[in-house]
Amino acid sequence: MKTSLFFKYLTVFLCFIVLSFTIQCTFTQSAIDRYQEDHEAQQLYRESAQIASDYASSFLNESLSLEDFQKQMAALEKYLSAEIWMIDNKGRILFNSGDAEVGKAASAAQYQVLSDFDTADFDKSYYRISNFYGCFSEQTLTVISPVTANYRVRSYVLIHKPLSRITGDTDDLMNITFFTVGLVCIASLLLFLVFVLLVHLPVRKITKVSRSYGKGHFEPTVELHTNDELGLIANTMNYMANELNTLEEDQRKFISNVSHDFRSPLTSIKGYVEAMQDGTIPPELQGKYFNIILFETERLTKLTQGILDLNRFGHRGIMLDVVDFDINRMIKTTILTFEGTCSKKGLSFDLVLTGKELLVAADMSKIQQVLYNLIDNATKFSHNNSSIKIETSIKNEKVLISVKDHGIGIPADSVSKVWDRFYKTDLSRGKDKKSTGLGLSIVKEIIQAHSEHINVISTEGVGTEFIFTLPLSKKEVQ
Ligand code: ATP
Ligand code: MG
Repeated sequence: MKTSLFFKYLTVFLCFIVLSFTIQCTFTQSAIDRYQEDHEAQQLYRESAQIASDYASSFLNESLSLEDFQKQMAALEKYLSAEIWMIDNKGRILFNSGDAEVGKAASAAQYQVLSDFDTADFDKSYYRISNFYGCFSEQTLTVISPVTANYRVRSYVLIHKPLSRITGDTDDLMNITFFTVGLVCIASLLLFLVFVLLVHLPVRKITKVSRSYGKGHFEPTVELHTNDELGLIANTMNYMANELNTLEEDQRKFISNVSHDFRSPLTSIKGYVEAMQDGTIPPELQGKYFNIILFETERLTKLTQGILDLNRFGHRGIMLDVVDFDINRMIKTTILTFEGTCSKKGLSFDLVLTGKELLVAADMSKIQQVLYNLIDNATKFSHNNSSIKIETSIKNEKVLISVKDHGIGIPADSVSKVWDRFYKTDLSRGKDKKSTGLGLSIVKEIIQAHSEHINVISTEGVGTEFIFTLPLSKKEVQ
């Protein structure tokens, strides 16, 4: 059976209370009783020793009269709430403060004798708890002190105090300790409530939300605004849910974009092929439509390649084949590819390259792809008869490569989105029918795989500049 944490806490708390009261009723009570007996025995023993040395010996050698001795003992009996006895070695009770007649006995034969009396019974301790050879009806604490004369033990002074008088205060003390334990229990109940409020309820909130995440609903967030570990877990969960939400959203967007971009060329290919098949397009016009079909298949191939590239980059990162190569030379050979487009649009390249050769340490074919994409964008979106400036420079052991055009530019609210897959600005739509909107996503993945940075600065209607960094080759650093 699944037991909630709350019931576990509650069980521990109740066990604590039951245990506290059990200990209180058993251990504490007997400890208090023992302490009181011990304490009382010590006090009575001191008194008996004093009586033995000060009064009993004077009484025995008759320097203290019986009346005076009785008076003193009566006062002490009251003061101590205990009976004071004197017994000789043979067990004869020579004096009993509770019985005034005993001390007046005329002859030894008249004394009451305790035949069982044996001082060896006190060997282990200076006091005993018993009914003292049947003399008392209840348990009594008895202390004993010898009375010596001429270095001989002549008799003993005994003080008897009923246990009920000694432990009579225990109930009061127990009440005080019960009250204290009660206060401790109330305090721990308050602590328990604070714990429930600060720990249990937040944990429940987190559990509830995590259950809904488990079912695939990432909308609920954990509302916990504390700076402790639970607050950290809540923030992490909210962040995770947000990421999963956007991931799901991205995936949906990705699939809808891919489907859309595949569907339009396929529809037009299908339409033209059917039209040629049923004779709607006469054979003499077919050449033009074959070219359109070829164009559309090229677009599909480019799209497929782009998706495959991104998929490969996204999964386990890109395996880079880092070598030293001359970036200036790569720029010069790449722009040759664009000669045709440039002459059509009247574009010119303005190369500002640092050094004769500038070695960088990077994956040559991937950087070629980056340069191709950036220059392709620059030529596509440049105004006619403008120039494209490509510049290389060195800063802090990094090579900065900038591709700057004078063209349509990117609207301010689209600048951060150009890196998104399939994103095209409203300004650029229709400028290039083959465009997939994947070029810059691939560029960003490649630069990030090199642990480098790429940035874009653009002004709508004026132009755009892309700047990226590459590590300078160690040969250049030396
Ligand atoms: P493809 O790269 O597959 O040919 P594309 O060029 O449209 O397609 P990206 O290179 O990813 O895709 O660029 C995304 C969008 O960013 C472009 O469609 C365009 O709207 C905008 N863009 C990119 N470069 C420039 C530029 N130099 N000037 C103006 N807009 C640009
Ligand atoms: Mg592009």
